[in-house]
Amino acid sequence: MAESPRVAVVTGAARGIGASIAQRLAADGRAVAVLDLSEESTEETVRAITAAGGRAIGVGADVSSADDVKRAVDHVATTLGPPTILVNNAGILRDNLIFRMTEDDWDAVVSVHLRGAFLMTRAVQTHQVKQEWGRIVCLSSISALGNRGQANYTAAKAGLQGFVKTLAIELGRYNVTANAIAPGFIATDMTRITAERMKLTHEGFLAQVAREIPVGRVGKPEDIAAAAAFFTSDEASFVSGQVLYVAGGPKA
Ligand code: NAP
Repeated sequence: MAESPRVAVVTGAARGIGASIAQRLAADGRAVAVLDLSEESTEETVRAITAAGGRAIGVGADVSSADDVKRAVDHVATTLGPPTILVNNAGILRDNLIFRMTEDDWDAVVSVHLRGAFLMTRAVQTHQVKQEWGRIVCLSSISALGNRGQANYTAAKAGLQGFVKTLAIELGRYNVTANAIAPGFIATDMTRITAERMKLTHEGFLAQVAREIPVGRVGKPEDIAAAAAFFTSDEASFVSGQVLYVAGGPKA
């Protein structure tokens, strides 16, 4: 009898980088739970995966809510099987210079990126430990190195780098690896918001940024999906606690 496919959960997968990662993991033979704030918002990603012959379900959950996360991970385990691949991708921006940054700006960003990754990982690692196999990938950012107007976001993205290193140490004995991808500039709705904040058109902003990137272009969600496919593969079993900058150069 054929082995059932490994089950992956990708958070924030309704659009952007998460949608691309979900599609890539499905193309690689994983059954994928496409998780985002509402189940309806995941329909397009789920449809794209099933149209390409893959297996996916949509799951609505706020990753910063412990109740939502428990319900979502239980639902995935019952519907698709024990989730053993987790990609913590859900994210938001609340940019402001430090003197203008409100407590809400800080709490919202830290809640989604850091608390969300913590809650999702705590719920999924139970299944990974039981299965004695697992892959965890967190989306960090080149902003972890510092970026004007993003004290909240940069702190969260740097925090995720420490988080995966500790997961690698704690979970390695169960054949569970944990790594981070630090994307450079990837054209998505998130960069559209940044362009609006800077009072630029998205296209103009992309062209301006591309001039500063050694490979001469901005990134695509598929560039990040390729890195996620490697980290979640069977053959990456000796790669853990690492941060891979996917930025078209040593820094963007
Ligand atoms: P995006 O287009 O804004 O997509 C983020 C997704 O996360 C959205 O579908 C969003 O839902 C969802 N989400 C937000 N809060 C959530 C929550 N509490 N629970 C569940 N889902 C939630 O972002 P992206 O550009 O693809 O970025 C994806 C990840 O890569 C983020 O972690 C980001 O920080 C990181 N990253 C991006 C870039 C870049 O250049 N784009 C660079 C470095 C790192 P809604 O649409 O309903 O808000």
